[in-house]
Amino acid sequence: MGSLKDELLKAGLKATQAPKPAKAQNEREQIKKKHVTEAIIHQEQRNFCEECNQVRPDVELYYHRNPTTEAEWICVKCADQLKIADSFRQTAQSDTSIRKMFRREHGATRAATEFKAPQKNTGPRGPIDGNR
Ligand SMILES: [Zn+2]
Repeated sequence: MGSLKDELLKAGLKATQAPKPAKAQNEREQIKKKHVTEAIIHQEQRNFCEECNQVRPDVELYYHRNPTTEAEWICVKCADQLKIADSFRQTAQSDTSIRKMFRREHGATRAATEFKAPQKNTGPRGPIDGNR
């Protein structure tokens, strides 16, 4: 005896076809991801100290005249040891600077307001809390 399925097949019904392939959607997602990656590359941050050859959260660029080193991207510890004044500092791009915790032991620390924002878009800054 013929089953119900056989009867339906005879009547011309077939198993449900898969929906149209979502190829177009996948392509769009890949393009989107590529744009995000490029944006991240533009926000490059230096955190490698050329003096002690270590990754540090407080590396900044110094155009100094200290003859004992050719390093320019230097962490706070090395800058203090080399007695490079903070007036030679060119950047405030390190994580420590961004968190407003950058502080030199050797001489005065330049105010963060002396540095222009790096080329990347930093967005609007919140109000400065002077109570801490
Ligand atoms: Zn260092």
